Amino acid sequence: MTSIRKISFEPSEFYSRQIVLPELGQEGQETLRKSKITVVGVGGLGSPSTLYLALAGVGSIQIVDQDTLEITNLHRQLIYSLEELGLPKVEVAAETIKKINPSVHVKPVADNLNESNAESILSGSDCVVDGLDNMSTRYLVNRACVKLGIPYIFAGAIGFEGNVSVFDPPETPCLECVFSGLDDASLPTCATRGVMGTTTGLIGLIEATETIKYLTGIGEVLKGKLLFCDFKEMSFNKIEIFKQPDCPVCSKDSHTVKEVKKPKHTWLCGRNTVNINPPKPMDIQIEKTIEVLDREFKVIRKSSLAVIFRYNGDVEMSLFRNGRMLIKNVDDEEEAEKLYRKVLEKLGL
Ligand SMILES: [Zn+2]
Repeated sequence: MTSIRKISFEPSEFYSRQIVLPELGQEGQETLRKSKITVVGVGGLGSPSTLYLALAGVGSIQIVDQDTLEITNLHRQLIYSLEELGLPKVEVAAETIKKINPSVHVKPVADNLNESNAESILSGSDCVVDGLDNMSTRYLVNRACVKLGIPYIFAGAIGFEGNVSVFDPPETPCLECVFSGLDDASLPTCATRGVMGTTTGLIGLIEATETIKYLTGIGEVLKGKLLFCDFKEMSFNKIEIFKQPDCPVCSKDSHTVKEVKKPKHTWLCGRNTVNINPPKPMDIQIEKTIEVLDREFKVIRKSSLAVIFRYNGDVEMSLFRNGRMLIKNVDDEEEAEKLYRKVLEKLGL
């Protein structure tokens, strides 16, 4: 990663074209500067929304994503470029944000949200912005947001369609009230249905706009409404959505039913990629692993958060500082766990 030359600039000039907006003004700009948000997932939706929220001057942006950059991401994920293939997405995105607006404090979290960390990661955010590509993590984010009382700017996009809503119970329904019980295995994905880069771009910017409006109190946000966009017809429809009185997440007595799920450590994510979380977070000194990994395998890239190496043939591994590993080009969780243990053994961990 290249270091960024310090350039001083006048915030009043940088934001002058938006401060002049009577709806925002100096006061709104100051509100944005004091705001802390979390963007979960920095892919097709998270790239444009994070970029524009940083440019708008949201003072503190936490970005969460478990993945490394792949070639198939680049046609729509404009916060990245070809040079950064293989690197942890949040690390690259954080560097880009620092370049386009150095006054934003950005915190990269190269991890997956799960039952054991979601609340601690999201806690303290003024709102959570959806950059996800699967329902199971959205349900998790929704549960954590409802429990912590954090508004959830929800969005989803695929093909030429997308939708957006602002979930803020008890005032509004939550995700579970509107889309309950969807199983990712039966839903189309960007790999199967396909997606235009402009679709995620447009939807990502709608949710960034809703985030700015929510934070500064401008206009009316999509509370209690679901916006349906069909870009083939260029149609935008807002429908009313309603709370489910017996919603297991946001109804009054929901907290009495505590869902206890054993956290999973290993799972297939995407095609031929297995994620392995360590049983306990570790603190691996990446620099110290390079020599051993390069001797035993072939190190392709390294960064401050991860080292990426070829195990043999096609198998590519990314070992993160906290002991998490992404293994690409395996399709079997058991096999992936075997490889993971072998690597840790070589490293004496
Ligand atoms: Zn609900």
